[in-house]
This record gives sequence, C-alpha cells and structure tokens, in this order.
Amino acid sequence: MNAVNVEAGDTLHGAPEREQGDEMQSLRDALVMMVDDEPLNIEVTQVHLEEAGYTRFVSTDDPLQALELIAARRPDVLLLDLMMPGMSGFEILERMAATNVLQDVPTIVLTSSTDPRTKLKALELGATDFLAKPVDSSELVLRLRNTLAAKAYRDRLANYDLLTALPNRHTFMGKLGWALSHAVRYGHKGAVLHVGLDDFKKINEALGPSLGDAMLQQIARRLEQCVRLTDTVGRLDIHRQQPTLSRISGDEFTILLPEVRAGEDAGLAAERVLAQIAEPIHLLEHEVRVTCSIGITVIPDDADEADTVLRNAGTAMHYAKACGKNAARFYSSELNARALQKFGLETQLRRALEREELMLYYQPKVHIASGRIVGAEALVRWQHPERGLVMPGDFVLLAEETGLITPLGEYVLRAACRQSAQWRAAGYEVPRISVNVSSHQFRQSAIVAVMESALRDAGSRVEDLTLELTEGTLMENTDQNVQTLQRLKAIGAKLSMDDFGTGYSSLSYLSRLPLDEIKIDRSFVMQVVNPGDRCAIITAIIAMAHSLELSVVAEGIETEAQLAFLAANGCDEYQGYLKSKPIPADDFASRFLAVDNVA
Ligand code: C2E
Ligand code: MG
Ligand code: MG
Repeated sequence: MNAVNVEAGDTLHGAPEREQGDEMQSLRDALVMMVDDEPLNIEVTQVHLEEAGYTRFVSTDDPLQALELIAARRPDVLLLDLMMPGMSGFEILERMAATNVLQDVPTIVLTSSTDPRTKLKALELGATDFLAKPVDSSELVLRLRNTLAAKAYRDRLANYDLLTALPNRHTFMGKLGWALSHAVRYGHKGAVLHVGLDDFKKINEALGPSLGDAMLQQIARRLEQCVRLTDTVGRLDIHRQQPTLSRISGDEFTILLPEVRAGEDAGLAAERVLAQIAEPIHLLEHEVRVTCSIGITVIPDDADEADTVLRNAGTAMHYAKACGKNAARFYSSELNARALQKFGLETQLRRALEREELMLYYQPKVHIASGRIVGAEALVRWQHPERGLVMPGDFVLLAEETGLITPLGEYVLRAACRQSAQWRAAGYEVPRISVNVSSHQFRQSAIVAVMESALRDAGSRVEDLTLELTEGTLMENTDQNVQTLQRLKAIGAKLSMDDFGTGYSSLSYLSRLPLDEIKIDRSFVMQVVNPGDRCAIITAIIAMAHSLELSVVAEGIETEAQLAFLAANGCDEYQGYLKSKPIPADDFASRFLAVDNVA
C-alpha cells in the first residue's frame, strides 16, 4: 500500500507563491490534504471533491507520516480522521498546535462518533469543523468551501493592506527573504526601493482622512503601473521572479525587484516612480501634488538579511529626504555609519533633555557708544557625561531634523526666563536676554503660547526678552511669518533678525516685518582687518537698517580694529570675543551685571 500519494497537477513551489484570482477558482486551486488509515475512504473523498472541481490533493494512510507531510506541503486544508492506529487524529492535532507553521492549517475532523465530548476535545485542540462518517458528498463540498473561504479571508487580512489591497509588510518580508536566498544561491542581484511620500501628514491634515485615503489608493495604482513597466524588461524568461509592491506603513511603500541586471536598473525604476508620483492627483475638485523620496539598496550586496535590507533602504530614504526630498538615493555603508551616529546622538539628546544636561551660556551685548552691557544672548550648551561640553553646532541641526528642537527650544526659553527672574531677585540690573528660536519652532504657532507660559511660570517680564530668528527662517513662509511676528510683537517681545546678510532678503520684504533689530552676520565682520578698511556691505546694511528704524548689532567682533570700524560707521551694538566669549550665568553676573540701586 502506498503510504504517501502525491497527485499530478501539484507543483512543488505552487502553494506559497500562488496569487489570489477569481475566488471560486482559487478555492478549487486549493491543495487538499487527507489523512485516513483506510485508503478506500481517501479514494471516495477524493472522487467527491474532483466532481466538485478540486484538482490538487495530497494524502497518506499512515498517520505517522502525517506531520512531516503537512510541514513539507503546507496544504490549504486538512481532512483528518480521528480514529487511527499508531497515532490518533487528536495527537496529530496536538502536535500541530505546538508548532507555529502547522497551527495555521485549517482542519476538518472526520469522525463516526456522535459523542459531543469527542467533538469538544477536537475543537479545543484547534479543529475548525467536523464531518460525520460516512461522508455525505454535498456536505463535504459545503464544509470544505466554507473552510477555504474563511482561510482565504484570514490570509487576506494577514497578508494584504485593506486600504490599497497591496501586500503588507509581513508579505513583503516573506518575499524579500525568498528573493535574498534566491539571489545568493544563483548569484544575481536584486534591489529594494523604499518609497516615502514627502509631507504626507500635512497633506492628509489639509485634505481630511477620507480624501487622504483616496489619495493613497491612487498612489498605489500609480506605483503598480511603474512596477508593471519595470517588469516588462526581461519578461521572456518565465522562471524570473516577479517584482512585489507593498505598503509597509501609512505613507511608505516598498518595491522589491528580485532580479536587476545592475544597480542602474533600480535607479531607472526609481526615476520612473519619482516622475509618476509627481504628476498632479485629482480628488473631487482638488488638484493635489505630492512628491516622494526613495531609498535604494542592492541585494545581496548591501545586506543579506531581510531586516537589514529594509533598514538600509529606509536609511537611504531618510537621506533622500534630508537632501531636499523628491529624490532617490542609493544606500551606502558610510550612510549607515552616519545614520548610526545620528541615531546614537538622537537617543542621547533625548536623554539629555530628560536629565537636564543642557545649560545656557551667556554672551554680553555691548552698546558701542556708551560701552554699557545692554543685553545677553543665551546660547545652549550640552554638558555631555562623556564628551564634555558639546557646542550647538554639533546638535542643533540634528535636533531640527528629529523634531527634538521643539522640547529643546522650550527648555531654552524656560531656562532663560528663569535666569532673568533669578538675577532680578538677586538684586541685579537685568539686561534683556536674547533667545534663539529655530525655524521649526517658529513655524509652530504654539510658540506664542509657549513663550507666555514660560514667562508666567518663571515670573519674568516680556520686556526682558528678545527673540532671535535667522534670516533663513523668516524668508520661508512670508505671510504666515508676518502674522506670527505680529502676535509676538503684540505681547511685547522684541524681535531680532539673526545672521543678517546670509539670506538675500529684500528691503521691501524687511520693511513688512515688525522687527526691532538686525544682527550683521560674523562673515561680514571678518572681512574687516583695519579700521580704515572699506566694507561696503556693512556700511550699506547699517544705513538700510537705520532707514527702517532698526537697531544694528554686529556679531563676532574679535579685534579693536573691527570695533573701531563699526563705531565709525554708526553700528549700535556688538557681541564678540573681544568683550567676552559666552560664559556660564554666574560668571556673567559677577563680570557684567551691576547691582540695581533702585531695587
Ligand atoms: P548665533 O545665534 O548666530 O550665535 C552666535 C555664535 O557666534 C555663537 O556660537 C557664539 O559663541 C559665536 N560667537 C560670538 N562671538 C564670537 C566671536 O567673536 N568669534 C567667533 N568666532 N564666534 C563668536 P555658538 O554658541 O556655537 O552657537 C552657534 C549657533 O547655534 C547660534 O548662532 C545659533 O544659531 C545656534 N544656537 C545656539 N543656541 C541656540 C538655542 O538655544 N536655540 C537654537 N534654536 N539655536 C541655538
Ligand atoms: Mg543668535
Ligand atoms: Mg548669529
């Protein structure tokens, strides 16, 4: 008696690779497995099922071989006899439940017992349904169809994204693993494209969730088309694996190209995606434009484990975003080193905020004509437990990129307000404190509320505060900026444009902003070597600022010659190493603050 029986029409790699087609058809494509110690029962059941259109079967009359066969063939459904010598159906169920793979095979138990306890026990062990022996053919077909339909639905939920009907991350990872081992074994290359939509959150907020969903669906269809076009290259080879497009999170998609001739193929595919996505999208009466950033990684060159591949592609995608978005970038190991470093720094900076490792240094602002200290600029420092004092140049940009600038900026604002109140309480004549506000922080309208709360909590006065915004920040989004500035101004904050001269803002634009002060960037001051030097741009900036009734501060004065030049040209105030480097608050008080006699 043959113990293992594999029917024709059953291809070896068939089951896991099959795609979902017409539902009835796909049910009949299901691989049905039968385990029964009576070969005749197997034969009869199979005949019934063949009449109903099923074609793919695998069976055994030796229960001891059942588990091995299930594991090797992964049937879509199992018809299992309960009463068998050697190993009972119960025992098989028990062992199936104990292994991850087998527990997902829906199992219909065949039993001649009418005892409800038998049925209950089988159910508890994971059986899906029962059939009474001897088997009635129409009941068999019905039970089988229901079980397979339920499995198909469950598979769809587990493996596909419901919104776009694309394979999900789980499916993608499975295919990627397969493609990796294939590429290693046959020595060819593949590629993964990680596609992230640019600023999708903003668009989604503006459109509302249902239009946002509709947009994602349209994008999915476009990507599908790109993938189809890519796949026409080299399609003559029928053994070639097909590309997979999946949606792995809200606004992120991946494209797996299991076989590419060279990395350039992946680059071309990425270009096609960039162009397709950038086309306007029509949603009801809206015309929306969105771009994407793409990270590309070549397999198995860059990595041979699925998790690492996906992480690398993600790193390259973030790099493409950082390079200005709407672009594709290849992964490289240097990129990884930078990402790791950045990640390390990011977690450390997060901790630094919690543990209050950040502190403010203060640099005096000097009134040129009188020599009096009229202000102090607060400059953030990070007292790192191992690296010592870390300068803002090493972490402010990172904070901007990671969004940590919001808590960092709030921390700085609160600390500066507290300092001002403390100095006042200690009886000092308190100079205005200048606080740098990053563009990210400024764009959030919450800046006004944050400032008010910082002042209130510290018990300090708004007249004691100047906010410094860089020229770059103020040039970004003009109308909204003017409004935010006006609100800050209305509360009484003094506003300063930092690093002036680096951003090419026009006089007419400048005149629209409710500013109090501009700070000439250090790069211009550096050009002055002798007091008699001509530095036309500084002279022009001072004249222009005065015509707009703005006070002018020169940054980075290191020499007497520079100071003399600025004094001769009517500059109002200066900051620089000539007077003092930024120093801790206590040093600042003892060196520069006078006790207020009135107080
Ligand atoms: P900034 O606001 O233009 O600050 C002036 C920078 O020039 C400071 O560098 C200061 O130490 C330096 N400096 C002052 N006088 C001289 C001089 O005579 N010679 C030279 N060579 N340099 C001088 P620092 O403290 O490293 O800060 C760099 C930048 O980091 C700041 O430029 C500012 O844009 C940013 N930053 C500092 N603190 C904060 C903060 O709390 N929040 C935000 N968002 N940005 C900050
Ligand atoms: Mg500044
Ligand atoms: Mg500056």
